[in-house]
Amino acid sequence: MKFGGTSVGDASCIARTARIIAEAARGGNCVAVVSAMSGVTNRLVEAAKQAGAGEKEQGTAVLAALRTQHEEALKSLVRDEAARKSIEEEMDEVFGEGGRLFEGTALLRELTPRTLDAISSLGERLSAPLVAGAVRELGLQSEAVDATEVIITDAFHGGAEPLMDVTREECEVRLRPMLEKGIVPIVTGFIGATTEGKLTTLGRGGSDYSATILGAAMNADEVIIWTDVDGVLTADPRLVPDARTIPVISYREAAELAFFGAKVLHPKTLKPVMQAAIPVWIRNSFAPERQGTLITPAGRSAGGGVKALTAIQDVALISVGGPGIVGLPDVVGRTFSTTAELRANVLLISKSSSQNDICFIVSATDAPRTVEALRKEFAQDLAHEKVEHITIDSNIAIVAVVGENMRGTPGVAGRTFNALGRENVNLIAIAQGSSESNISFVVEEKAMKTALITAHREFGLGAAGT
Ligand code: ASP
Ligand code: MG
Repeated sequence: MKFGGTSVGDASCIARTARIIAEAARGGNCVAVVSAMSGVTNRLVEAAKQAGAGEKEQGTAVLAALRTQHEEALKSLVRDEAARKSIEEEMDEVFGEGGRLFEGTALLRELTPRTLDAISSLGERLSAPLVAGAVRELGLQSEAVDATEVIITDAFHGGAEPLMDVTREECEVRLRPMLEKGIVPIVTGFIGATTEGKLTTLGRGGSDYSATILGAAMNADEVIIWTDVDGVLTADPRLVPDARTIPVISYREAAELAFFGAKVLHPKTLKPVMQAAIPVWIRNSFAPERQGTLITPAGRSAGGGVKALTAIQDVALISVGGPGIVGLPDVVGRTFSTTAELRANVLLISKSSSQNDICFIVSATDAPRTVEALRKEFAQDLAHEKVEHITIDSNIAIVAVVGENMRGTPGVAGRTFNALGRENVNLIAIAQGSSESNISFVVEEKAMKTALITAHREFGLGAAGT
């Protein structure tokens, strides 16, 4: 089970989370993975950047605020003084380390990716002992486990990938015996370590990924991602008021949705469990009586083929082109080796056959360094006007129509674009992968909402019974 930031946001949320864990642990073996309290990682990252600029004050202030926040929660969660003391000591160690990290960073005026990982991991290392304490309060044995002991990764700081074989071994050594003794492990999400023991993180929002990595490593019967919404919805309810929860969805559909910004799942979440076909639930920790969404290998077919819509707006369209690139056979290759080197996540690619222009989309945070790297890569070509422009447009959004059964269902694209045309939504770029489970298009940011509402209505997604 994984609990996100809002599910451990304060004492009452942690108490609710602890009850869910305890109930599951009484019924069988349960490993819990927890995020930092909501907002904590953002504050740490922000302060880390300040420290990198030579100012440690914000770091000191954030640590002080976190201390108050966590100690307050601790007070209301754990009644016994001795029990509180031991958790306080665990937290003290984390605060001490945090202080040294901010200080060292400010002193050197340099924030390396490795230090950023260490600083951003502090939140999870504070929340896990709290949750374990809350579970013990309910009469079970429980211990916080630092994921650096169990999730072993490569050394790519800020977006590490698990080494599954070693991870599996470590889980057998560290977690399995705990389960056998009836101890509920509460593992820090988001964090891992290299084989040499250097702390890494799996990327922002990575606790979901931690959960499925552990689920796969331990051959779990199921993974449950507890969050603050009812499951996977047909669209973002803030934009499409009649969006509803989808009861069953396939891995592929869920992955498409996650990839395109449906905030419930980290894009890599399903990767570890796909091969072993471990089902994944998305459920609401604030309303555990609701069923949530079940993600399975096959999903369940929906009549019209379209299952859900998603949109992502914190993205930028980068275009590399000009008439001169016609004769340059390696532009595509060089463009995408550049993005690969940066590990920039390319969300959509579109290229017309005229070869005049390649455009692709990356997240807004990746965009500046991507453009910078491309300008470096193509410096010669720009100088000789073989490549005319490398431009960036941030006022755009991607909207995606997702559904596994769109494959072989003709007319989905036609219906989508017809409906959008009627509403005067202008399309900037279009892409459909040959898997046919996703049709994506780029619109101006301000047209995104209309595009979503229009497509949602067109495919009757708000109606019951799909
Ligand atoms: N705390 C981390 C973050 O905010 C990981 C997570 O919440 O999944 O990115
Ligand atoms: Mg999250």
